[in-house]
Amino acid sequence: MDNMTDEAPVLIAGGGLVGLSAAAFLASHGIRSLTFERLTASSPLPRAAFFHMRTLEMFRSIGIEEAVRSQSEKEFVPDGAIIAMDTLSGRKLADIIPNLNEGVDALSPCRRLFLNQPSLERILRNCAHEGGATIVPGAEIVDVHQDSTGVNLTIRKASDGRRHDVRGDYLIAADGAHSRVRAALGIDYEGRGAFSNSLTIYFTADLAPYIGDNPWSLIYVNNPTLRGFFRLNRAATAGFLGVNVLGDPQLDADAAVNAATDLSESRLIELVRAGVGKRDLPVRIDGYSRWRATANVARRLRDGRVFIAGDAAHLMPPNGGFGGNTGIHDAHNLAWKLALVIKGLAGSGLLDSYETERKPVAVFTVEQSFSRYVARTAPWLAARVQPAPLVDDLRIELGYLYDSPLGVHADPRSTCGAPGSRAPHLWLERRGQRVSTIDLAAGRYVLFAGGAGSAWVDAAKEAANRFGGLPLDAYCIGRDLADPGGQFLPGFGISSSGASLVRPDGFVAWRCPDHATEPAAVLHAALGASLCTRAK
Ligand SMILES: Cc1cc2nc3c(=O)[nH]c(=O)nc-3n(C[C@H](O)[C@H](O)[C@H](O)COP(=O)(O)OP(=O)(O)OC[C@H]3O[C@@H](n4cnc5c(N)ncnc54)[C@H](O)[C@@H]3O)c2cc1C
Repeated sequence: MDNMTDEAPVLIAGGGLVGLSAAAFLASHGIRSLTFERLTASSPLPRAAFFHMRTLEMFRSIGIEEAVRSQSEKEFVPDGAIIAMDTLSGRKLADIIPNLNEGVDALSPCRRLFLNQPSLERILRNCAHEGGATIVPGAEIVDVHQDSTGVNLTIRKASDGRRHDVRGDYLIAADGAHSRVRAALGIDYEGRGAFSNSLTIYFTADLAPYIGDNPWSLIYVNNPTLRGFFRLNRAATAGFLGVNVLGDPQLDADAAVNAATDLSESRLIELVRAGVGKRDLPVRIDGYSRWRATANVARRLRDGRVFIAGDAAHLMPPNGGFGGNTGIHDAHNLAWKLALVIKGLAGSGLLDSYETERKPVAVFTVEQSFSRYVARTAPWLAARVQPAPLVDDLRIELGYLYDSPLGVHADPRSTCGAPGSRAPHLWLERRGQRVSTIDLAAGRYVLFAGGAGSAWVDAAKEAANRFGGLPLDAYCIGRDLADPGGQFLPGFGISSSGASLVRPDGFVAWRCPDHATEPAAVLHAALGASLCTRAK
């Protein structure tokens, strides 16, 4: 092939949202990757747009938060609301989320936002590319084989149909809902399956008179003709209508969830008008796509040297906007582990934790998305399907836990630095400048010690050498970092003589609440357990 090499430490199947995120995160760790994307140009029709605080924290860690935010402000109102109406021009039924960012400032240096998926993919592609990643468009993966030392892919190039073999140490399968890699490995989805043949109608129409000054980012519409949701551009002149249900499901349940049968232009215009509640509204149809609202998780997220991520690993209805976010978090969880194993700084056992950490989170998030679908769009299903009780969005976005006795999720305001939780965001000061703990714990191990815990910092410096030059920063609060609000010790759940060790993905690996008589030995054991290796 013209524009590609034929080997890299990490191969990536699929150059969509999750494949590009994986390439960008790997690049931030100095790992070269080779991504194959079947399409020659990415689809201009957006799907995802709602991106959560934790996702923005990940983007912040690779230096693209500002680019994402400024593009978002061009496309959508900031701090928008999610509401339900009977029709867009009609009666409000519910305020689902009155302001996307109400009450979030104490929890994160980042804010939730809306940004169209093609715009985000462009930013991620540039970031990955600048970091040395190679992304090959028009390259379809047609075969995959692995052995004990690597993975072979057969690629078919769209331009001339020629086949070409490439080899890598590892493969990330981010090739979407119809993942060929997952199928080749014989890994099925399991879960509730598909419950609506849904339709997205992309259109242009002047809806500004009905939106007015209201900061509505997403508008659910529920009326006798259809149930679904509108997402509009900032000027309210174009957007899409997602349709999950047609007509009265009590009369004909099967017909109601087959929303994508008549795709004639006149029918699509009729549906947009029914959603707006204006029979004569001028509407231009710009496109449509069909998709199945589904709640499934792959039985396994790993097979040998192949890791499954994004929609290839889990499918959920878009209610709550968790699908793309969860896939990006998969990529973030995996990138640092692959990087440390490839660099010889961690044992290969570290890679086992990808599935044990991410699968329970995927199962939980898929079910919460399904619960939101039932609550917002299909309430008549509740008695029959018994979805899990809804939990606060914060638990899904910031409160998911890895290998924790607390379970799979908790209120992030209550976890206080417990091992397995995301290290909390606190503003500290370094040389007079405000700095978030989230920024200090991004991309490398970090040890935070209380003011009387300088022995931990000395132990960390020695440990970095004993673990082969592991990137490990260490700070003594009060000496290296000021804590003007006095929030650090309660926030991280340690005393002034204790310490907390945070992983490169910002999750707490271990903490010692108090002084230890042999801090070096204790820290070596903690790092060894986290890295699945021994000190040299
Ligand atoms: C209407 C709608 C609204 C949504 N809104 C949100 C939202 O607001 N927030 C959110 O987080 N999520 C949302 N989602 C979900 C989100 O769009 C998906 O979860 C996300 O796109 C998954 O990304 P992915 O990279 O895993 O898969 P995809 O985006 O499907 O990318 C997979 C890529 O792999 C390529 N590929 C497939 N097979 C091969 C092959 N054999 N060889 C090479 N390449 C291949 C495909 O061409 C594609 O580019 C929404 C979904 C829908 C339908």
